[in-house]
Amino acid sequence: MDTVTTDLVLSWLRTVDERVREHADELTRLDSAIGDGDHGSNLHRGFVAVTAALTRSSPSAPGEALTLAGRTLISTVGGASGPLYGSALRAAGKTLDGVEPMPGELLQALTAGLEAVRKLGGAVPGDKTMVDAFTPAVEAFAAALRAGSGLPAASAAAADAAEKGARSTIPLTARKGRASYLGERSQGHEDPGAVSTALVFRALADAAAD
Ligand code: ADP
Ligand code: MG
Ligand code: MG
Repeated sequence: MDTVTTDLVLSWLRTVDERVREHADELTRLDSAIGDGDHGSNLHRGFVAVTAALTRSSPSAPGEALTLAGRTLISTVGGASGPLYGSALRAAGKTLDGVEPMPGELLQALTAGLEAVRKLGGAVPGDKTMVDAFTPAVEAFAAALRAGSGLPAASAAAADAAEKGARSTIPLTARKGRASYLGERSQGHEDPGAVSTALVFRALADAAAD
């Protein structure tokens, strides 16, 4: 069945933990170029805590799992990305009702997550932040559902769009976050938060494909 089960969300979040671990050095290297070099360790610490919290409390609904993950990130990650990802997951979790929501409801949850990031951080597409990966990912997910795709294909389309969005940040001048302190010197580097957002969507696609 093409629904968003609790197991799927738990597998998604576990996969994010794994991917963040695998890519921590790369994320830190990207953040060293235009920030303060802690994006990999910030997210690693955060998602280790998320996995521990989910194991401890074994949530019984997908919304509950996402809300707990969001709260955990907010309380364990000091950098900008903790509150931003934390608010996104919490907003998504609060939007996702019931035990087996439909893919359209996951779209509403992802949209609420993106809105939370944009409200909290004030970034718009083109500012060279995670919003540059998150926005096209949600748009691609929506377009795929409209075209009749199920959850696996829509999630794969979202991941492709997020990766493309992350690459699109390379020539941009940062206008939000620490990288904005560099002005035009931030050009020529991929935004670390956009790269981690692409990891999050690829993890969803892989969890949904199983
Ligand atoms: P910090 O910059 O506080 O050290 P991290 O290194 O963990 O935090 O995260 C940096 C990432 O957070 C950036 O690459 C960018 O994608 C994202 N970010 C920073 N500020 C904002 C903002 N105002 N809106 C959206 N994303 C932001
Ligand atoms: Mg940083
Ligand atoms: Mg920092």
